[in-house]
Amino acid sequence: MIQIVLLAFIAGSIAAVIKVVRQIVSERKCVTDYEIGKFYKGTLKHDDAIYRRFIAHLGICEKCQTRLHSFQKVDDVGDHFLSKEH
Ligand SMILES: [Zn+2]
Repeated sequence: MIQIVLLAFIAGSIAAVIKVVRQIVSERKCVTDYEIGKFYKGTLKHDDAIYRRFIAHLGICEKCQTRLHSFQKVDDVGDHFLSKEH
């Protein structure tokens, strides 16, 4: 009987470790241009798992931070052209 309880405990622990490892791996994966676009437009929901992964990844990846900044620069240029038309 104790062996079954111990086995269930070990299986539960392994499942928890796998879940944490999966989360870490997904946070390390670079975000897509589509996700950056959605974030920049403010259409990513703050309680969404994608949003949380996006923020967690931006905190550790300089490459994606630079990509987000380049999105902002493109938009600044767009604003500049728009303001010239008026
Ligand atoms: Zn990245």
